[in-house]
Amino acid sequence: MDFKNVDLGHFSELIGEKQRICILSHKSPDGDSIGSSLGLFHFLNQLGHSCSVITPDRPPSFLNWLEGSDQIINFEYHKAKATAAIENADWLFCLDFNGLNRVGDLTELLTHSNAKKFNIDHHQEPEHFAAYEYIETDASSTAQLIYELIAQTPHLHLLNQAIAQALYVGIMTDTGSFRFSSTTASTHHVIANLIATGIDNAAIHRNVYDSSTEQRLRLLGYAISDKMQLFKEHGFSIIALSEEELQRFEYQKGDTEGIVNYPLSIQEIKVSVFLSSKDDKVKMSFRSKGDIAVNSIANQYFEGGGHVNAAGGISHISLDQTVERLIEILKNEFPN
Ligand code: 5GP
Ligand code: MN
Repeated sequence: MDFKNVDLGHFSELIGEKQRICILSHKSPDGDSIGSSLGLFHFLNQLGHSCSVITPDRPPSFLNWLEGSDQIINFEYHKAKATAAIENADWLFCLDFNGLNRVGDLTELLTHSNAKKFNIDHHQEPEHFAAYEYIETDASSTAQLIYELIAQTPHLHLLNQAIAQALYVGIMTDTGSFRFSSTTASTHHVIANLIATGIDNAAIHRNVYDSSTEQRLRLLGYAISDKMQLFKEHGFSIIALSEEELQRFEYQKGDTEGIVNYPLSIQEIKVSVFLSSKDDKVKMSFRSKGDIAVNSIANQYFEGGGHVNAAGGISHISLDQTVERLIEILKNEFPN
């Protein structure tokens, strides 16, 4: 465990009373960043603090049923409000990201803020940018760390359904519904304690996974049947979608989430990459099975990083050129 000055048993004394607190999430927030942020938000508010959750851009709409999600301040649309909250904050809690450059357009504000910074995260290679941190790179999710933080304080009795549903979503989404190797006995113990608050866990799965639009499912079908390139002899798969193709399916943010996982269901495929283009940039998602580390590939070639089995990166050449380069890199990395 990597603490800088933090004894979670004395969390309240460390934080102080009636503090102004901003919780910041990473760019393109996912289930874990929103779930962990809202879980901490409901906890800190009960402790008497004045708390805001701020995202660099829009949270996915499949999470808008979470209690407190209507209070999230999206910097993209509410710059003045978000800026004021960050500038006036006593504390900035930085959740589910390991470096200052992961918060998009919030980077400037975060970097120059004089507030005390507390980083809670589970990504590899933390940059240690905060004076206070609770970092466990083996943890299933930041949401699990928030539960463990709360459990180490003397305030576990404050765990209520609002906190529990948010943390459940974070753990569920970051573990692929409890199937990735990051899922441990303690993950299931935490989940059991969350369900014991009375939340409807089956409804949470439905809210998150069974709330697609028709166009989203048709986009998935197109991606798999028309666009999936398999390199079975090298064990990898590539799906690339252009901005024009996304538009054809009335793309909304979040619609491509999860497409990258499907090729891994093919026995011979150990690495899957999903690419999509937007405004002269290509966003890349990497997934792998077993001990193949895709974060190092994302980091070495595509300005990215992440976890061993799930990473992301970016490319500034065209989509076709990126695919060409990627095929060369992966053939090299995984010779047959
Ligand atoms: P996703 O493919 O879902 O966008 O991202 C998978 C994982 O890789 C996430 O844990 C995310 O934090 C990380 N990741 C995604 N994009 C980037 C990036 O550009 N830089 C770094 N360092 N990590 C990324
Ligand atoms: Mn996470």
